[in-house]
Amino acid sequence: MNTPLLIAMFSIATLLLSGIIGCAYKQKKNLLKQLNHVLHHDTLTGLPNRVLFNTLIQSALDRATDDKGRMTAVLFIDLDRFKLINDSLGHLTGDKILQAIARRLVDHLRPHDVLARFSGDEFVVLLENIGTEKAATQCAQRLQQALARPFTLAEHSLFCHASIGISLKQGTHHTPEDFLRDADTAVYHAKSAGHSCYVLFDASMQERAHTLLSLENELRRAITEQQLLVFYQPIIDFETGRIISFEALVRWLHPTKGLLTPDHFLSIAEDIGLLKTIDDWVLSQAIAQLHQWQKTFPTQTLSMNINASCSQILHGNLVNRLAGLLSEYPIRQGSLNMEITETALLEDSEPTLAVLKKLSEFNIGVHLDDFGTGYSSLSYLYRFPIDTIKIDGAFIQRMHYSQKDLAIVQSIILLAKHQHMEVTAEGIQTRKQYDRLKKMHCTKAQGYFLSKPLPAHSINKLLTKNRVRLATAV
Ligand code: C2E
Ligand code: MG
Ligand code: MG
Repeated sequence: MNTPLLIAMFSIATLLLSGIIGCAYKQKKNLLKQLNHVLHHDTLTGLPNRVLFNTLIQSALDRATDDKGRMTAVLFIDLDRFKLINDSLGHLTGDKILQAIARRLVDHLRPHDVLARFSGDEFVVLLENIGTEKAATQCAQRLQQALARPFTLAEHSLFCHASIGISLKQGTHHTPEDFLRDADTAVYHAKSAGHSCYVLFDASMQERAHTLLSLENELRRAITEQQLLVFYQPIIDFETGRIISFEALVRWLHPTKGLLTPDHFLSIAEDIGLLKTIDDWVLSQAIAQLHQWQKTFPTQTLSMNINASCSQILHGNLVNRLAGLLSEYPIRQGSLNMEITETALLEDSEPTLAVLKKLSEFNIGVHLDDFGTGYSSLSYLYRFPIDTIKIDGAFIQRMHYSQKDLAIVQSIILLAKHQHMEVTAEGIQTRKQYDRLKKMHCTKAQGYFLSKPLPAHSINKLLTKNRVRLATAV
């Protein structure tokens, strides 16, 4: 429960208590009743609060039987992006909408169902003595449909969607905590499934939650115990067939699971706020490494590509950090590139644009990663200072048996040329793909056919000859 609410409840309770002392019996009874109400209800909506809801689940469980046919359900309702309403229209409007939501939810429940409000944008429903799973899922659908209709407040017409997690239990051998934990786990899954949907809890989710929790702790330790590594994947110039750049890709050398790629840990890192720490670390490692390679191989023109996340761009003080690193590890002008995805451009486009313009002023290249997989809006290419488009590997791998993919690759190359941008084909896996892209005048190549991402010491050997697999395969 939030602090202002607790203080408000405490003040009301104190006032009521001071009134109770020294007043007549009937008044005392009334005041006690009011005190009891305050302690068990949400002040904004008048709905039961968490304390009362727990008691009500317990009573429902006491009344439940072990009869296989009947069940109890808890629906955890989490309003999608409610913070946006609060932030844009103010808390007063936010409060009014929450009251309207509470009324609408009550209107779509049966008289004996219980609706409670737990915190800001979290509501919960208790369904007692239901016969089928379908009864619970239908209730979830009904509530979602009810919320999907617009809420009209003064001049505003607002839409509010909700994710719902459902926990269903048979018999008496459960606790309110089990119920709420499982419904909470299910709502988390509903949110990650893309919002505005409902998900029914099942035991595998709990296992997954445990695995995630231990992975989270292990990842925190990995950072302090230096289990993270940076691998480097060569990028080749189509014209010369020589290595001209590398993409820095993070790896985790897990003590028992071995070498893990980013898809095993970056999204967890993002959820627990560690992505920026990881990105900052990769940034310093990769710049120091480029500095080293440029010193050791002065005749080669080598660059480095580093992936930047949204949080690093928007909240990372990226430009100052880069300035510090570049004065510590001087590198050739124009030999550093940041890779960003379209999602990063979408996230908060004005501040992102400001950061990217600063990068350009510093002579740091901006490469648009995984192009073709997101919105692929052409307006980005005009609006943002982008030097290179990276065509996503999926198109490259399909282009030999899909005309549509071939056409997409061709148009991206033409578009880039027209805009005086370079274009890197990612995920090249075969000679055939390589040759075709070369014919299409693609400028840079990256993929397992040329080289997999490698640790720095293996790259040293490659750079001694400046040869990748391609050169030996010719
Ligand atoms: P990305 O930036 O698009 O990087 C290219 C990914 O494609 C890498 O996967 C690379 O190993 C893989 N790849 C390269 N050639 C081939 C190929 O021929 N076939 C196939 N199937 N895959 C190929 P990886 O290293 O697993 O990284 C996955 C994603 O994780 C990256 O995609 C990037 O978005 C993200 N990532 C990696 N390192 C970092 C990092 O330090 N910070 C951030 N924020 N993201 C990172
Ligand atoms: Mg990349
Ligand atoms: Mg990519």
